[in-house]
Amino acid sequence: MQRIEDFMHELFEEHANVERAKLAAYREFRDRFFVEAYEPFNNHEFRHSCEAEKLESITDSGAEAVVTTSTVLRSLRLQYRYYLQARGEKWVVSNVESSCPICDGTGRFPHERQCSHCTGTGWLVLAA
Ligand SMILES: [Zn+2]
Repeated sequence: MQRIEDFMHELFEEHANVERAKLAAYREFRDRFFVEAYEPFNNHEFRHSCEAEKLESITDSGAEAVVTTSTVLRSLRLQYRYYLQARGEKWVVSNVESSCPICDGTGRFPHERQCSHCTGTGWLVLAA
């Protein structure tokens, strides 16, 4: 079985490659339509965030695993939670969640009020 660490490192590397390719395509668009050095739709920060993503924890139950990672987007510390499923000798991701940026992943506001953005879970699903 593929090591989860190896799978996640491949995923991080390819994700950063995709973001670099998007940035290169964006630069062509920017150079064609905007004055020099004007960056109205900049995604540098997101690319840096991909490159800085690190493994935090792995919970492996054989056929499934949950991997928590962390990174920084602008000055915001974010965590991601990847749900992995075994597919033969490899892994595939079935779901990704990010920590809620409104309550900082706690699910709560001061005075124990539940965060309405993440409905108190501290996590947001990135794709259904
Ligand atoms: Zn929240």
